Amino acid sequence: MTAAGDDSTPAARLRLLQAEFLQPGREVHGERVTTSATPSAPIRLSVYEHIRATVEEATEHTRAAAPEAAPRPRGLDELYGWMRSETEHLDAARQQARDALIYRQGLEHALLMDEVSVIRQHVCPGCSTWSLFWRPERKAAVCVNRYCADDDGMSSYWTLAQIARDHIARQIPAARRAT
Ligand SMILES: [Zn+2]
Repeated sequence: MTAAGDDSTPAARLRLLQAEFLQPGREVHGERVTTSATPSAPIRLSVYEHIRATVEEATEHTRAAAPEAAPRPRGLDELYGWMRSETEHLDAARQQARDALIYRQGLEHALLMDEVSVIRQHVCPGCSTWSLFWRPERKAAVCVNRYCADDDGMSSYWTLAQIARDHIARQIPAARRAT
């Protein structure tokens, strides 16, 4: 089901985080050799905490949406597949919310690995132009399109959740879009 060779899916990024930051030196695909230094303890701790929070949020979201959901699989690899399969019977709006949550987590995984360029792959939710730049100190992306600024000339900022929701909504044909 999932594109095995695609490193940009939320699941692939989560796997990469775990493999590269929590188990340094481990061979990922049989022949891979890690040449970089072992990540420092604070980095490993923050990645560990990020993964823990990711799993917790995904689990709570699924349980709230589908109280009868099967127990969460132990493997991190199966987390998003489990979320989807346990909620695929829900209405379109709730499936969209699930997809946006998964997508937003994927953006968080990427940013934790310093892949700031992922933000540039999205149009601004406000003006639909390619004008977004990540501002880590704001934990948000700024739109530099001056026509997107408010009446006082203040730039618009967009959270990862807003960018993810907008991205998912744009994938859905207008006829199926939840209102
Ligand atoms: Zn904009």
